[in-house]
Amino acid sequence: MDEIRMVDLRGQYEKISKEIDLAIKEVLLSTSFINGPAVSEFTAALETYMGVKHVIPCANGTDALQVALMASGLQPGDEVITADFTFVATAETIALLGLKPKLVDVCPANFTIDPVEIEKAITSKTKAIIPVHLYGQCAKMEEILAIARKHNLIVIEDSAQAMGADYIFKNGDRKKAGSLGDIGCTSFFPSKNLGAYGDAGAIFTNDDILAEKLRSIVNHGMKVRYYHDYVGVNSRLDSIQAAILKIKLKHLDSYNLARQKAAATYDNAFSAEKCLTIPERVSWSNHIFHQYTLKTIGVDRDLLIDKLKQKSIPAMIYYPVPLHKQKAYASNDYAEKNFAISNALCNSVISLPIHTELPQEQIDYISQNLIEIIQKI
Ligand SMILES: *Cc1c(COP(=O)(O)O)cnc(C)c1O
Repeated sequence: MDEIRMVDLRGQYEKISKEIDLAIKEVLLSTSFINGPAVSEFTAALETYMGVKHVIPCANGTDALQVALMASGLQPGDEVITADFTFVATAETIALLGLKPKLVDVCPANFTIDPVEIEKAITSKTKAIIPVHLYGQCAKMEEILAIARKHNLIVIEDSAQAMGADYIFKNGDRKKAGSLGDIGCTSFFPSKNLGAYGDAGAIFTNDDILAEKLRSIVNHGMKVRYYHDYVGVNSRLDSIQAAILKIKLKHLDSYNLARQKAAATYDNAFSAEKCLTIPERVSWSNHIFHQYTLKTIGVDRDLLIDKLKQKSIPAMIYYPVPLHKQKAYASNDYAEKNFAISNALCNSVISLPIHTELPQEQIDYISQNLIEIIQKI
């Protein structure tokens, strides 16, 4: 059996290498490395896929969040509500701009920000909410959008882990994760569901005025060359990455399907295990399994990971420390009792290898070994 990997970007590349190599060569020969035709072609294809009016490509997902916040007209000291249990990029960009991250607890069902906690955290200084669609499933967007409307707040979605996921409205309508809020942000980090071969990201909006501002901010605040209307940044998607992403976008739905199939096989294997909770599927979103994350119950997780490693099975903890306990973001405002779910998740979750190339043989090997280990420890 081949080496088991958390992600297999090599195997994925080999299947499309001819097309990718040709596309890269084309950019090399054109020498249009910045804002070449590949960038506008990918952008247009992504607008169609996402069902949004505007895609603003940028250099990475963290920049997408930063630029989204910069375009939102916030003032230093304004509060932005986001989830406590996630990757740091949301809290980081909020803090970097002199805004105040207000971290709140998440839902036990799918680990995304809890609308009830959002409402409790709103003050007169609250200006925006950043829900994160964690692990490949959407946050409760209808509830969040209703709260935002009621309190006149901006909603910026972090859909870095949910490229291609569908939000399912109560009336059955579907929209792509990242296309529901005022602004959506995503990452094409190589291991994401739609991954480039380097850093890349994008911003989504249906608002023409916001789109123009976002487009200007990613390019030094310019609309007309050398005339700077806004304080901007340099955050462009380069042409080589765009050429790669344009090809990979065509495969995104089949990539997500491959992840879903692997997840279903894991589910079957683990559903009877009392010490493991399989990832819950919610009514308001499909799941595209950026991560396959189990909750362990009463298990020595470090020992479990150690034993898996002895069997050459990698496993990861996303995330070991909640943001409110991180040195950079800890604040006196945070009471531990408000983070019961987030704290518990950090101590109990474990993510297994999941990617587009996972063979049945490896899934079976991982499942059998994990069950054997868990029954012994
Ligand atoms: C990956 C990720 C980001 C940041 O994306 P980069 O492209 O690495 O900057 C932001 N938020 C979440 C939830 C992510 O998983």
